[in-house]
Amino acid sequence: VCDYSNEYGNEEIVVGNVNKLFVVPTGFCGHPKKGHLIFDACFESGNLGRVDYISDFEYDLFIRPDTCNPRFRVWFDFTVDNVKEYQRVIFNIVNFSKTKSLYRDGMAPVVKSTSRPTWQRLPSKNVYYYRCPDHRKNYVMSFAFCFDRENEVYQFAYCYPYTYTQLQRYLDNMEKRNLDYVRREMLGVSMQHRRLDLLTITNPANLSPGAEQKVVFITARVHPGETPASYVCQGVIDFLISQHPVAKILRDHLVFKIVPMLNPDGVFLGNYRCSLMGFDLNRHWQDPSCWAHPTLFGVKQLIVQLYDNPKASVDFYIDIHAHSTMMNGFMYGNIFEDEERYQRQAVFPKLLCQNAEDFSFSNTCFNRDAVKAGTGRRFLGGLLDDTSYCYTLEVSFYSYIIAGTNNTLGVVLDFENSLDRKCIVPISNLLVTNKINHERPFFFVPEEYK
Ligand SMILES: [Zn+2]
Repeated sequence: VCDYSNEYGNEEIVVGNVNKLFVVPTGFCGHPKKGHLIFDACFESGNLGRVDYISDFEYDLFIRPDTCNPRFRVWFDFTVDNVKEYQRVIFNIVNFSKTKSLYRDGMAPVVKSTSRPTWQRLPSKNVYYYRCPDHRKNYVMSFAFCFDRENEVYQFAYCYPYTYTQLQRYLDNMEKRNLDYVRREMLGVSMQHRRLDLLTITNPANLSPGAEQKVVFITARVHPGETPASYVCQGVIDFLISQHPVAKILRDHLVFKIVPMLNPDGVFLGNYRCSLMGFDLNRHWQDPSCWAHPTLFGVKQLIVQLYDNPKASVDFYIDIHAHSTMMNGFMYGNIFEDEERYQRQAVFPKLLCQNAEDFSFSNTCFNRDAVKAGTGRRFLGGLLDDTSYCYTLEVSFYSYIIAGTNNTLGVVLDFENSLDRKCIVPISNLLVTNKINHERPFFFVPEEYK
């Protein structure tokens, strides 16, 4: 008998999302009462595989592993319902597949509720990340929360979600503007028949027959859980289609080809890293299959077509990702034998560093390890001419540190005031922890709440 416990993060395999699951004390009979929480993750990008009742105040939550690939358990996104007013809870996410996390450095999950539909980060003082002896020494993230309104549905997520539908809505609205310098096409469909969108942004004169095309190719969300990549990508698109004079100059001189969501099924399913069939698509650039990796296959085919077109040159390729353990934005680039090419490649990240306070050149690195050979950046670095530039742009899931300080510029909105307003004991008093040793928070409930 194999012991899958390490591989799967727990004794039991978690398959499928919880579906309007009432969580009641063990042995409880009869109708669930107010305060017996209902957990649900059966919605787009939802992820929660299992809930264990510890007490009315504490629940162990299990991330549902990526479809067909139990090794990845990071993204979560679920709702909680049937709460009692001022009910306070601790949720423990107990089966992360990673050990390092920005939750240790101040990152916090995001929350919204029916009457407050804008996502906000929880205060980081309510978040604990530590190695837990109760869960095979897994790293556990615990957060304390107070449900302040009785008839609300609360939703919690690993980071700000950005769904497939959200992208579709954004692109639909953009299309309605009928800008003559933007073209939206369907480059293909995913295994579950979702759109693989391609945008071409350029002055239409650059697309006339015989015109030379200097192409900048941008892709994002090959890793579905890396939602910050979509916010960056949308920001790039918003700028490029704007009336900003620089945007206009860029459109006049360059052709931008943008694939904003390379892995639409993975995004829809609430995976962190993989496609529907469990592939990390960013390891399959060398030989994507049209049936197993259809979206990657389509994008690669287009890039090869552009490469073979004597009138076109792909000068820049940027694949946008999000990083779960590092602060700031930074890049990965390739190492070349040719020293001159290597130096030339460092220019762009250096320029970014000088112009963007959240981008760090010191975190930027150039590598050629075998494990990354199937990435877009590495593959295209090998394919394209040596005058081209290929990068992975990483942006932190959390925040950035301004050079020369220890200050974190996290957009930490304070949801807590509204949550704690009428609580007699502030929720942070319920948690005592030794953050240095990352021990389990000691949880107690004062008499009046029992
Ligand atoms: Zn990634």
